[in-house]
Amino acid sequence: MKCPACGSPAFTSTRVVRALSAKIPDILADGLEEGACGACGETCVTVPRARELTDVIAAALIAKRWRLAAGEVRFLRTALNLRAEALAETLGVTASQLSRWENAASREGRTVRISATADRLLRLLVAQHRGLPVPDLRGIDARHDAPLALTVRLKAAWGPVEAPAAAVA
Ligand SMILES: [Zn+2]
Repeated sequence: MKCPACGSPAFTSTRVVRALSAKIPDILADGLEEGACGACGETCVTVPRARELTDVIAAALIAKRWRLAAGEVRFLRTALNLRAEALAETLGVTASQLSRWENAASREGRTVRISATADRLLRLLVAQHRGLPVPDLRGIDARHDAPLALTVRLKAAWGPVEAPAAAVA
């Protein structure tokens, strides 16, 4: 493989475990490819089967048994391929409200969390858009919103290798 920047053959690629997105640092992807050039120093990370990886992570998030965390809301919006304004309009909230949910803004000393209704609607939208199983929306525990911790590994296909962590009280 040649370096995409300088064309040197001194380009090596290794499989690495990394968070797919800084917004969901507790979800790790094992099987990303990190390339490094010995000639020009160029580095890059590529995501094999990116669409499938997004589907696996989205499926785990919409089946989560407690409230979506801020970064998860944002990740699911990108899985919908929607701009913030479009998702806010779909959920029936203002763009600034959605922004507070996506960024865990604090108000009067308390972190603003996605509403229980919008949380469920977002999950349904993602299931429909990506062709994923519709999650059971009963009994989602809104008192907990710890991020889901999960490792997804690429073998023949991307798949979860660790059960989602239990809710943290
Ligand atoms: Zn190079």
